[in-house]
Amino acid sequence: MKDTVALKELLATPKRIAITTHQKPDGDAMGSSLAMFHFLKKLGHTVKVVAPTDYPDFLKWLPGNSEVVVGPDDIDMAKWTFEGADIIFCLDFNALKRLQDFEHAVMDSMATKVMIDHHMEPEDFADLVFWDDKASSAAEMVYRVIEDLGELDKLDLAMAECIYTGVMTDTGSFRFTNTSPAVHRMVAHLMELGVDVNKAYDEVFCNSSPERFRFIGYCLNNCLHVLPELNTAYIKVDREVFRKFNIRSGDTEGLVNYALNMKGIYLGVLFTVQDDLVKMSFRSRGHVSASEFAGNFDGGGHFYAAGGRSKDTLENTEKRFLELLEAKKTELVAS
Ligand code: 5GP
Ligand code: MN
Repeated sequence: MKDTVALKELLATPKRIAITTHQKPDGDAMGSSLAMFHFLKKLGHTVKVVAPTDYPDFLKWLPGNSEVVVGPDDIDMAKWTFEGADIIFCLDFNALKRLQDFEHAVMDSMATKVMIDHHMEPEDFADLVFWDDKASSAAEMVYRVIEDLGELDKLDLAMAECIYTGVMTDTGSFRFTNTSPAVHRMVAHLMELGVDVNKAYDEVFCNSSPERFRFIGYCLNNCLHVLPELNTAYIKVDREVFRKFNIRSGDTEGLVNYALNMKGIYLGVLFTVQDDLVKMSFRSRGHVSASEFAGNFDGGGHFYAAGGRSKDTLENTEKRFLELLEAKKTELVAS
């Protein structure tokens, strides 16, 4: 509440505002950022969204996308935006290292930093904090912040489409445990504003290339390891496979769920090699915490969905993961 009053005061006069999000932005990262972008522009501010890295094509239909600065494509503009900002909104992340190459540009900026996030264990870098790890998504939190500011009447179709996309992607299309009655009530409002839920689903989930499905088929045939005695399954994909199928950012979206969605499996993991790092996606159910496993690999996230990374080789990372599974066998088997 205190931070809502402070934010209202801050936004009472026109400001230069930068909005940013985590590297490799997903639907919630771009949805929440662009919803905030439209809202703040409507309040009369000068606003820019800076994405620290590029993001998948299936998010590029979102209203306002053409105005996003993609950091690596326009480094000077991205740095200048952070330097010259009065306020920086940090959406859908809570650790500055997730800004990748722009960590220091944001850290060193004199701007007032506003965090809106729902991941566990937030860092203490923001001046104003809107944080709720029970929220389905940062997009839902943007809706709540607008509501708390008493500005829900400003919501329009563009904002509603962005918020809807963030919530849809972070809740696994309203299936995950973070799908609350409040989420459905909010979505009802978004639909009343004109959101076409079939269009949003089509844009995000029905635009795959044939290579993507062949890649998924290959991974399930050749890269899936099932460890029934540990209630765990993982998919390990090396760089060659990425090359063979011409895989791009976003093409691995959802692949980890195949590992998790088998009978008796409580931990599913995807290993890929990206930008000289082994990237890991953890998904869990029951009593198993994905974020606890990710914490052992320089990462974190939510209880049931988390990410991590390793600078070691794919084989050594897998070995370390298998050792960790053995160490946590009691917990995994109890689930
Ligand atoms: P994904 O496996 O889809 O990359 O990540 C799953 C969830 O964990 C997402 O909400 C993502 O934002 C979050 N996540 C991924 N990596 C990290 C990390 O290093 N730290 C934190 N706090 N969250 C992460
Ligand atoms: Mn999110």
